[in-house]
Amino acid sequence: MNPPLTFPLRAGEMPTQWYNLLADFPEPLPPPLHPGTREPVTPDLMMGLFPESLVAQEMSNERWIEIPAAVRDVYALYRPTPLLRAVRLEKALQTPAHIYYKYEGVSPAGSHKPNTAIPQAYYNKLAGTKRLATETGAGQWGSSLAFACSVFGLECNIYMVKVSFNQKPYRKMLMQTYGATVHASPSTQTEFGRKVLAETPDSNGSLGIAISEAIEDTMKHPGTKYALGSVLNHVCLHQSVIGEEAIKQMELAGEEPDVIFGCAGGGSNFAGLAFPFVRRKLKDGRRTRIVAVEPASCPSLTRGELRYDFGDTAETTPLMMMHTLGHNFMPPSIHAGGLRYHGMAPMVSHCLKLGLIEAMAYPQTKVFQSAVLFARSEGIVPAPESSHAIAAAVDEAVKCRTEGRKRVIVIGLSGNGLLDLAAYDTYLSGAMKDGPEGV
Ligand SMILES: *Cc1c(COP(=O)(O)O)cnc(C)c1O
Repeated sequence: MNPPLTFPLRAGEMPTQWYNLLADFPEPLPPPLHPGTREPVTPDLMMGLFPESLVAQEMSNERWIEIPAAVRDVYALYRPTPLLRAVRLEKALQTPAHIYYKYEGVSPAGSHKPNTAIPQAYYNKLAGTKRLATETGAGQWGSSLAFACSVFGLECNIYMVKVSFNQKPYRKMLMQTYGATVHASPSTQTEFGRKVLAETPDSNGSLGIAISEAIEDTMKHPGTKYALGSVLNHVCLHQSVIGEEAIKQMELAGEEPDVIFGCAGGGSNFAGLAFPFVRRKLKDGRRTRIVAVEPASCPSLTRGELRYDFGDTAETTPLMMMHTLGHNFMPPSIHAGGLRYHGMAPMVSHCLKLGLIEAMAYPQTKVFQSAVLFARSEGIVPAPESSHAIAAAVDEAVKCRTEGRKRVIVIGLSGNGLLDLAAYDTYLSGAMKDGPEGV
């Protein structure tokens, strides 16, 4: 008979507070800087874009922050998310390792992103915001925010990178189903978009252009605020529910993780799973290895520099101290696997600097090979992003087999890949390639 596969939490065991690693860093995080003066940014500068409550969370050093009851009520639609033992994957790999995965793909939008979209919409509603503006690439963030806005009765205006708008229509339809308005960016809605269109009428758009449009939209419409789905401290904070639940679920499983793998694009799902375990390393002296896995074609942690850089191409955001490939970096066009951001959350970058986490990079064909193995053994089709963590876990499990050692491995499975089947099709048809240097 198989060992137990799931470790359900009871209602009273759900986290009621978010965990803020800023309170426990042995060295303080370098602050964001004003791009003009290069002085640390003041709260009032950020309050044009975000409500005061979220600005306060962004800068807070409180270790525990209460999750409002209204947010917990919405979390209850899909939380706690399951932690599963991947018994069939273990068998397929013939490994003595025990492999677990924390699955965020059960949320309405299919990823971890509603964990922050819900509180962001809630705090905006409370502050009297009528409308949120944001950008989205492939649409995971846009659909999460559209869902959260529908719950709290806010309008939602989304600038979606044009190439995705045309090539990946399903998440656009999902956003519209939740009631959001979606514009292909560059759009005619903003001065910046019109300028880009005048210069390059057939522009495919980019995340940088879409961010600039969403920020301009926010500044020009009274009652509108801006929302960001990764990178920022308050986003990492909201995602900590993932790791807090996982700690309790691993206790129910009666096992202590030796190594944790999470994928990293902007860093938010990785932070959410990892930071509560980082706390235990700092406080209880545990030796858990915690590994961020990124694409070899967009390797900000493994090949980027740690320095101050802009969050966007148009140089409108504050400067953040982070691992970066440069704010003009474009991932190679062969890259199909998501995780395209040039930078990395300052908090995740700081963890790497302090030696609290490690980082690895994987080429996309290896990622999809592991994704298909996972789908065929566990049944879940993983998001291409999440599959970076699976690929690293598979290598670790194979190492356990060759070394004849049991280890307990935890994978952060940030989402499902049901709206990413076109990328699977590219892989299965043999058309997917790695870059010149094996990226
Ligand atoms: C957006 C997304 C990511 C990347 O964002 P992070 O901020 O690095 O977590 C990873 N996985 C899934 C499923 C996503 O939707």
